Amino acid sequence: MSFVIRLKWFFQQRWGSYALAIGLMSAVSLLTTIPPKMIGNTIDHIRKGDLTASGLNQTVLLLVCLSFLLYVMVYVWITTLFGNSALVEKLLRGRLLAHLTRMTPGFFQRNSTGQLMALATNDILAIGQTSGYGVMTLVNTLVGASVVIVMMVTYISAKLMLAALIPLPFLVLVISSLGKKVRVRFLDAQASFGKMNDHALESISGIRVIRSYVQENDDLHAFDAMTTEVRDKNKRVSLLNALFQPLISLIVGVSYSIGIGYGAYLVFDGQITLGQLVSFNIYLGMLIWPMISFGEFINVLQRGSASADRLQTALAQEADLKDAQKPVELDVPASIEMKALTFTYPTAQQPSLDHISFRLERGETLGIVGRTGSGKSTLLKQLLRQYPVDPGKLYLSDVPVEQIAIDRMKSWVAYVPQEHLLLSKSIRDNIALGKPGASTEEIERAVEMASFTGDIAQMPEGLATIVGENGVMLSGGQKQRLAIARALLINSEILLLDDSLSAVDARTESRILHHIRLERAGKTTLISTHRLSAVSHANWILVLSEGRILEEGTHEELMLHGGWYKEQWEHQQMQASLEE
Ligand code: ATP
Ligand code: MG
Repeated sequence: MSFVIRLKWFFQQRWGSYALAIGLMSAVSLLTTIPPKMIGNTIDHIRKGDLTASGLNQTVLLLVCLSFLLYVMVYVWITTLFGNSALVEKLLRGRLLAHLTRMTPGFFQRNSTGQLMALATNDILAIGQTSGYGVMTLVNTLVGASVVIVMMVTYISAKLMLAALIPLPFLVLVISSLGKKVRVRFLDAQASFGKMNDHALESISGIRVIRSYVQENDDLHAFDAMTTEVRDKNKRVSLLNALFQPLISLIVGVSYSIGIGYGAYLVFDGQITLGQLVSFNIYLGMLIWPMISFGEFINVLQRGSASADRLQTALAQEADLKDAQKPVELDVPASIEMKALTFTYPTAQQPSLDHISFRLERGETLGIVGRTGSGKSTLLKQLLRQYPVDPGKLYLSDVPVEQIAIDRMKSWVAYVPQEHLLLSKSIRDNIALGKPGASTEEIERAVEMASFTGDIAQMPEGLATIVGENGVMLSGGQKQRLAIARALLINSEILLLDDSLSAVDARTESRILHHIRLERAGKTTLISTHRLSAVSHANWILVLSEGRILEEGTHEELMLHGGWYKEQWEHQQMQASLEE
């Protein structure tokens, strides 16, 4: 039942085609009861010796026509019904992806990629099967069996029918208890399948690290253990599934025995004719399929509803972040301000930012420095609106961010993350990610700004070169500059550079920063870095330590202050001159 409720929207939307398919299936069931009746009648005529040639011809012709009619009807309902199956899969995959794109990092920490992939593939497939094949088996069982039973009662003998169907309730009992077990085992198998997906993903994406630490064999063993587990669990499912068919054959065998034994007695007793006995046995044969169908239906339904439950659990998770109900309209962010902002990651115990306050006017540059793990990236991420911020802590143009529409805010921000995310497309498409319609001149200009032109000239196909999965073809510094070009192309109000120049040499770095300063005059930029020279020009510099502001000021002020910043600066300057 839960399955029907979960997919109510779909059944409502497609009720017309379901009605057509079910109507045709029922008509087919009705029509297929005619031939056995005709065969029985013909036998009785033969027995009585009053079969005429024209009568026989008529019967044969009718049987042939009926076969053709059934052919067409079956074709139509199969395509209609299974078309629905394919459609529901498509719709659900679309829903799932749309949901995933709305989710924030918290969701992806709770749900692993492998589990989500299992949902998109196996689970949605199982749901599709239930809404096509499942419906077919249900209709077959209900309509097929009742039509046959009605024919048996009206044309042959109720007594014989009841006797032959004595084993049936037993079958229903066993099947429904098996069905429950199938569901439990299937859920278990799907969960393992998800885990195996996770492992495969990690092995493939981390293959270079695994190889460099010579862990291939260990990884293979671990993966082998996973696949064995998946196999064992699927085997446990199919062991139960395998019980259905023989069980049905057994019951059918008993039914046949009763049918022929008791039926023969009734013929001798003159209660039914020989023709009727033949028809009855054909009808009994026609009950096998509805019975198998019933088993299959329970089976498919259990799997489908288990999968629908899993899918629902994922879809029901809301983004941690609520959009503003009545957003305040802002044209441009005239300032960015944090007022004693404290932030703790959902999975963390300790805050990663602790009472951070600063104010930045439009057009200014903020430098963020500090030891590794001090909270630089976390501070920049606050502007991406991925995690909820405590109300009244972060302001744009003096409006608290929770009153600004998330999409609006995102449209102002260009972000160059610390760890690069490239798509396995061409360099051009990767750069134009945020502005797909960009002209070649615009792209070339962004590339020039990021000092990436020389590298592209070296590539086999220039801008059209495919970078491979997550940019395997590019060096670390090339990936960084590609990401910078991507961010510069959209010429956003706010630019976040998260340690984005760590892999380029000092000279390239200062050239890129010079370009950025010229290009982005009047726009706001936030730069986090380990190399202090990258922020010495900034209007304000924050030195973080364990999420707190340790020192702050302009470069000159910090140098006068004589703390961590001065010490680092001198250290880095000395190193630079040694390298020269
Ligand atoms: P680096 O210089 O190495 O880039 P950082 O200054 O950018 O360091 P952050 O990435 O902001 O440091 O991390 C600050 C703290 O927050 C660290 O202690 C880190 O362990 C923690 N942290 C970062 N991301 C998460 C997360 N997604 N969930 C939980 N804790 C996190
Ligand atoms: Mg960082």
